Amino acid sequence: MKKFAKSKEMMARAANSLAGGVSSHFRIFGQPHPLAFDHGEGAYITDVDGNRYLDFVLSQGPMILGHSHPEWLESVIAESKRGQLYAGQHLLEIEAAERICEVVPCAELIRFSLSGSEADHMAIRLARAVTGRPKFIKFEGHYHGWFDSTAVSVNPPLDKAGPANAPIPVPWTSGQLASVLDEVIVLPWNDMELLEKTVAANADDIAAVITEPIMCNTSCILPRDGYLEGMRSLCDRHGIVMIFDEVITGFRVAPGSAQGYLGVTPDLATFGKACAGGYPVSILAGKREFMDYVADGRSIHAGTLNSNNPSMAAVVKALELLTQDDNAAYKRLLANGCALIDGLRQAAADTGHDVLIQGPGPVFHMGFSRQDAVHDYREAVAAYDTAKYARFEFGMLNEGIRLIGRGIWYHSIIHSEDDVAIALDAARRVLGDLPTD
Ligand code: PMP
Repeated sequence: MKKFAKSKEMMARAANSLAGGVSSHFRIFGQPHPLAFDHGEGAYITDVDGNRYLDFVLSQGPMILGHSHPEWLESVIAESKRGQLYAGQHLLEIEAAERICEVVPCAELIRFSLSGSEADHMAIRLARAVTGRPKFIKFEGHYHGWFDSTAVSVNPPLDKAGPANAPIPVPWTSGQLASVLDEVIVLPWNDMELLEKTVAANADDIAAVITEPIMCNTSCILPRDGYLEGMRSLCDRHGIVMIFDEVITGFRVAPGSAQGYLGVTPDLATFGKACAGGYPVSILAGKREFMDYVADGRSIHAGTLNSNNPSMAAVVKALELLTQDDNAAYKRLLANGCALIDGLRQAAADTGHDVLIQGPGPVFHMGFSRQDAVHDYREAVAAYDTAKYARFEFGMLNEGIRLIGRGIWYHSIIHSEDDVAIALDAARRVLGDLPTD
């Protein structure tokens, strides 16, 4: 068993000055308690007790180049030494934007911010500005950041969430304005008939439909055949702005992101995480007819720290490393992801466990379940033995493999075939020690 004494000590110290000892709510989870880290290098991260882990958390997605990628870091450091923030434009910012417009199908014009939450907030504001309508549709179990208007029905308890075909919007936190609940219509994902009916009944009020194109925040669920295409034509017919939240899928599943991978182009899309390899950057991208409202200030977007120099260097270098040599990094991400998925399924079958793994490969979700598939949030809530996954996660931690407790796996372009083999060997041992049902 690994020792975590220094992490424990540091968490106790942190709790005296940081609320809950952390800077983001998602970091208060963790076994045996939240850990403190000392450094990261390549596919590995080392905690303050000196435990070294093969990292499948990757800071919840952004570290797609692995930790401390030398070439990327050099570029960020060099730019930081030249200048940090001008409150004016600079070349790297334009180069980053040009590169994004080249590879992302919906990106005719973009704006940079710092976090995915901000980009999503702006996307909804813009949709309202363009349409003059107040409401938007979001789906149960999707996450679009922590701001009041979008943090609704993220992971609602089912006893508060109303009937499956007419969910009640559930706020995420106390302190949220009750009025935001009147502006959002919550639906189950992957149900075209219900989406059509709801739009038909409320079209004049609906500015936007916002969706994760792959439902990464719940079980990495892929859209049913034709679902996003149907959503696209429905939005077109009713003058509704279609928004893809690609904060997880963006620059991870393909250079063109999920919209390129799935072949459906939204009107607006938001990005964060992987686009800068770990620096604070998010993107609102969209078709010119919509982004023109931002361009001429009819829909205002701002931010003192937006497009700071080191972050723009991070975007330019990350995109270069990801796409060079005919997208070799993406081919590796896909191959390693598929190898992980196949290997985990095989290890579970050999040790007598039922697992359900879903997702495209560069990101995927694993849980203990007898189901063959889940298609929406409520199916996911019913499907998994989450206590068993917590035991698996802790077993893997003690084997030197760091996982996210809710089952989502991220890997990087630096994770090698050997790293995949190391993770699978560990999984086989941990599964072998877990009691079968
Ligand atoms: N959208 C999605 C799909 C996300 O997964 C997240 C973060 N996990 C966000 C938006 C919010 O991004 P940020 O944490 O950078 O504000």
